[in-house]
Amino acid sequence: MVQPSRRSRTLRRVHRRTPGSRTVLHFKKRKPAKAICSQCGKVLAGVPRERPYKMQRLPKTKKRPERPYGGRLCSACARRAIIASARKAQKTE
Ligand SMILES: [Zn+2]
Repeated sequence: MVQPSRRSRTLRRVHRRTPGSRTVLHFKKRKPAKAICSQCGKVLAGVPRERPYKMQRLPKTKKRPERPYGGRLCSACARRAIIASARKAQKTE
């Protein structure tokens, strides 16, 4: 019988080909949930979901889109927020 922790589906199963061309089953921890827009809840594109040890190895530019509100708001909500803030700035002038 396999280890009790490996009997449940808590860990995801990954098929790995060994150098001897055997296929073995590896058990890995599951990835965290996908990043969502903080305003509308849409799943964000361009934001990788990986375990912290892998995120740490990624460059900052690969962790979120490089634009205002990148990785926080979806493109539609970001556009709205930018327009709203520009209008606010214009009123105060
Ligand atoms: Zn949104």
